[in-house]
Amino acid sequence: MSQYRTFTAADAVDYARQFGGVENPESLVESQEIGDGNLNLVFKIFDRDGISRVIVKQALPYVRCVGESWPLTLDRARIEAEVLQIHGEYCPQHTVKILHYDPQLAVMVMEDLSSHAIWRGEQVNGVDYPQAAGQLGEYLAQTLFHTSDFYQHPHQKKADVIRFTNPELCDITEELFFNEPYEVHERNGYPRALEPLVASLRDDDELRQKVAGLKHRFLSHAEALLHGDVHSGSIFVAEGSLKVIDAEFGYYGPIGFDVGSALGNMLINYCALPGLLAPREAADAREKRLRDVSTTWQSFAEGFLALAAEKTQDRALARPGYAAEFLQKIWRDSLGFCGTEVIRRTVGMSQVADIKNIRDEAMKNECVRQAITLGRTLILAADRIEDADALIARVRQNG
Ligand code: ADP
Ligand code: MG
Ligand code: MG
Ligand code: MG
Repeated sequence: MSQYRTFTAADAVDYARQFGGVENPESLVESQEIGDGNLNLVFKIFDRDGISRVIVKQALPYVRCVGESWPLTLDRARIEAEVLQIHGEYCPQHTVKILHYDPQLAVMVMEDLSSHAIWRGEQVNGVDYPQAAGQLGEYLAQTLFHTSDFYQHPHQKKADVIRFTNPELCDITEELFFNEPYEVHERNGYPRALEPLVASLRDDDELRQKVAGLKHRFLSHAEALLHGDVHSGSIFVAEGSLKVIDAEFGYYGPIGFDVGSALGNMLINYCALPGLLAPREAADAREKRLRDVSTTWQSFAEGFLALAAEKTQDRALARPGYAAEFLQKIWRDSLGFCGTEVIRRTVGMSQVADIKNIRDEAMKNECVRQAITLGRTLILAADRIEDADALIARVRQNG
């Protein structure tokens, strides 16, 4: 146990030598801070041959992209490391491996995934990973089933709900997802040309009522230990491999939130592609993205049902047909949360590369307009979209 201090590049090397689990620690000689996220320091640690061997990630006591005026708990490093350890227990093949963490220093050492690429960047460039969506569905099924009441002992589950109470990070989601995009707010980041469309969201009573219901479920439904921020920027891919990172928003919440976040980012990419690639490439990549949406859901749903049939511990929840009925509720939730993810990443503060990389201003506005319209449709029509095919039909109708 050591007292918190912000790591320098040299501190990160020292720490990796101690806790990186490499055979010859003295071979680690250099580090580079590569964090491109909004919150934390991420150091890549290199050996004498210039090969990166391990990652050191440290939480800062404030929001990195804003500064010291927005303090943020260091406890998020504990949450991140422990969520990834638990998810890694149930889905080692698709969870980044945590090698060590220290809650006092708010630091963790993890497996280096430099052989992989962040999925969002690959989607922006039109690079296809045909197996990734099925693997993501498997990650969601394994992690969410095994941490739910279907599988957890009721005492353990209640203890974990407390252990993963994550009030400060949840507060960010509660504001950025469910409040700010539907208000006049200085942090919103939508193109000013879309003011009339965004104003129409604020004035849409039916939409705001649905968003209230989604926020209420986010606040109150402790269904499983969520990742809490499963977007394509938290997912590394390589040929035949997928690894999820960055679980500091983890807490016990509604399963549809993780599933919907994952689907939402794919649909944002779908809307952005005409602004990113030449017309024929874009059309091809869009079809792949719709395939990913459908495959992610199918893989999650089949995985969850198979696990429920085989491994449900609770005698009442094991009743035939109950898991399938619950899955229908997850689907409805997923559609709603998917819609709020699309809107919060286009109207709200957390803008994504898919949109930011569109150079032509008019094209960017058109892609964002489509995304906002789609997000609204999904939130409003969640109860009437029966399955993944119906979802894809809606997406195509939207433009
Ligand atoms: P934040 O919580 O600040 O968003 P992330 O965990 O998302 O930080 O990491 C930020 C960036 O650092 C990632 O986008 C990726 O480029 C790099 N990174 C993070 N973890 C790893 C890893 N295990 N291996 C290689 N690069 C990583
Ligand atoms: Mg991140
Ligand atoms: Mg980030
Ligand atoms: Mg993060």
